[in-house]
Amino acid sequence: MNNKSLKYRYSLETYDPKVRKHICPVCKKRTFVRYVDLETGDYVSTDVGRCDREAKCGYHKKPRDYFEENGGGPRKDYFFPRAVPKKASEDYFSVVSSQLAKDTMTAYEKNNLIAFIRKRWGKDAVQKITSSYPIGTCKFWPGATIFWQQDAEGRFRTGKIMLYNRENGHRIKDPVSRIMWVHKLPLFRDFNLKQCLFGESLIKDNDKPVAIVESEKTAIMASLFFPDAIWLATGGLNNLQSEKIRCLSGREIILFPDLGAETKWIMQADSIPHLKNAKVSTWLMKHSTQKDKDDGLDIGDWLIRLPTIKSFRVRDFL
Ligand SMILES: [Zn+2]
Repeated sequence: MNNKSLKYRYSLETYDPKVRKHICPVCKKRTFVRYVDLETGDYVSTDVGRCDREAKCGYHKKPRDYFEENGGGPRKDYFFPRAVPKKASEDYFSVVSSQLAKDTMTAYEKNNLIAFIRKRWGKDAVQKITSSYPIGTCKFWPGATIFWQQDAEGRFRTGKIMLYNRENGHRIKDPVSRIMWVHKLPLFRDFNLKQCLFGESLIKDNDKPVAIVESEKTAIMASLFFPDAIWLATGGLNNLQSEKIRCLSGREIILFPDLGAETKWIMQADSIPHLKNAKVSTWLMKHSTQKDKDDGLDIGDWLIRLPTIKSFRVRDFL
């Protein structure tokens, strides 16, 4: 169970006894364990793996053999420790190893969203964002961003992988929405997911008011313009939930719903004890055009229009 023992980019999918095995290309029994690329989560090839019928079959083809035959392969060895699942209990939830998460917090020049922010507002803005928020870069799609959900105790609950357009900072939704989750990669089977708010790790030892938005991208951008608040993201319209908010108990909270989502968030907030005293910002509603409302913009879309970073006060945007 030593997390540090895995040193290769490719690993057999054997750490978990419940992993469903594949059909062996030689003996045709369902005893075949395939190699996974730990960087992308993809299998190598259908015939690359090891048959568990060691005595009767013994077929074993390593990624190295495959790449020698077919060319290609990794440019460098890559090392991602595996998450070791435990038996689930009431309060138990799985976490992603912090080494894996931290290994992704690099190569920001290849990260489409970060490259966009740099082009828009300069390298100091990028430095501010990447030194405070747990943001990674990954090759699941070239240029993709990982928004790590790191809780107030520093644990990585999961990561949301999203692909943005490098030129305009918009999400890529065509032909399909490019959203993936770290815990859904094949190396995490039987993951007991318990999400937290994006940015939750920032509340530790910091008693500034908390501002909550839906989108992770909006949270990181708003943090540049409103240094007097901690900006967190729910990651979805319906994610304003009691168990995620509990950690904010006793704080001043301001909700910044997307245009058109105000009523929904006000109703959700009313049903959550810790949000009873939360304020809901209606500033954007009063300062947006009909088209902005039709498009369901949020405070981040408004900030993107500003060519330089200004310092606003969050209480002026109620
Ligand atoms: Zn076999």
